[in-house]
Amino acid sequence: MMPLMKDIQVVVMMGGMGTRLGEMVATCPKPMLPVGDRPFFEYELTLLKCAGFERFLFCTGYLSSEIEDHFGDGSKYGIKISYVRDGENDGKGKALLGTGGALIHALPYLDEDFLLVYADSFMDIDYKEVVYRYFEAREEGASSLMSLLHNDGRYDTSNVVYKDGRLKLYDKKNLSSEMEYIDYGVNMFSRSALAEYGEKISAFHEEEGSDGIKFDLSDIQHELSVHGRLAGLIVDRRFYEIGRPESYREFISYAEERFDKPKKAAFLDRDGVLNEIVYNEDTELLDSPMKDEELKLLPGVTDAVSKLKALGYCIFVVTNQPAAAKGKTSLGNLFDVNKRLKALIPEIDEVFVCFHHPKGDSRCREKNLIKKCGCRKPETGLIEEACLKYRIDRERSFMAGDSYTDIQCGRAAGLKTVFLGDLKCDVCARLEYNKPDIIAPSLAKAVGELT
Ligand SMILES: [Mg+2]
Repeated sequence: MMPLMKDIQVVVMMGGMGTRLGEMVATCPKPMLPVGDRPFFEYELTLLKCAGFERFLFCTGYLSSEIEDHFGDGSKYGIKISYVRDGENDGKGKALLGTGGALIHALPYLDEDFLLVYADSFMDIDYKEVVYRYFEAREEGASSLMSLLHNDGRYDTSNVVYKDGRLKLYDKKNLSSEMEYIDYGVNMFSRSALAEYGEKISAFHEEEGSDGIKFDLSDIQHELSVHGRLAGLIVDRRFYEIGRPESYREFISYAEERFDKPKKAAFLDRDGVLNEIVYNEDTELLDSPMKDEELKLLPGVTDAVSKLKALGYCIFVVTNQPAAAKGKTSLGNLFDVNKRLKALIPEIDEVFVCFHHPKGDSRCREKNLIKKCGCRKPETGLIEEACLKYRIDRERSFMAGDSYTDIQCGRAAGLKTVFLGDLKCDVCARLEYNKPDIIAPSLAKAVGELT
């Protein structure tokens, strides 16, 4: 079973000198470089907080006090931060250096299973899926999970062979034409595997007789991949990093657009709005798709979403998906359905999902999903999360759905509301009290009314 996100330790590598940035980092460590009104790392921290993480270990080094003075113990962000400082020796007088060395140095402070990220990167992916897939892979013998981006040489040199749904090889030193993926920068690790391989590699480097034991974390990940112990998860969004002056400037423009400029958004319910409801033969009921192959878009949806995008709307899907909590399918299948949805409608900026259910079912494998939460519509948690992650002008935004709860949710979040579908009698009566701004038979027709 997947642990709660708030219990997972997040280890942040932030000790680097940032030499490629020259004078810019003379008195300011990389994660503290200003972007708008905040230091760079606060943007990534917002993503991690939105994902539900609360426990952080910052591995600092270069100008550590600047970082500690700003982030403190994390209480001002509602999280807990502790620190381990890099560059200290291993107790035998040898300095542990590089990303691998820094992590070995932090071993006494690490949980058995932890998430690892880099403080010079902005990585906006589904962290819940990363954690879930790691624990799934752990049951099959993996000791680490690496997130991967299909690269084709776009961002850096591809270094991963991924085939037949599996990571086959990770190697930064011996590149081959079979490598189409790149290490994205979000990893889950088992502490014991790290210790086991770290020891072997340290011993190897020690023989070289230098003063410091320096190695890259990628050496450990390469070893794990060779032994079939490194799982891979494909992610679909590009990353940003600030290792070079031009990439730093690129993120500044991106952040201005995303976090400073107010934008309108279309919050769309999923089932019955974007895709067909599915007839389930076992239960003889109409239900949400439980597997990716069951996802079928409704007619006119692709065009309607393109039109909304062209009108300047951010496209967010907000959906309740309690099927795993009710034991009808796995959480993994539900992640797959949403990945397929994003592949079919690339204009979607993000899918926000509530997987909880207050009652659940005894067949449920993920007991943590059974709870009363603040994100299940008509609660507004998903919309609040979207507004934390993007700068949204609610007055110019709307929520469209085919259930009364969608209308309640949109109204409570301060959005315009659009009711879609054939009016069912019970819904009609309720709408008398809480009239939506627009009523239309389909998303395509509703978009027509907006223009
Ligand atoms: Mg619906």
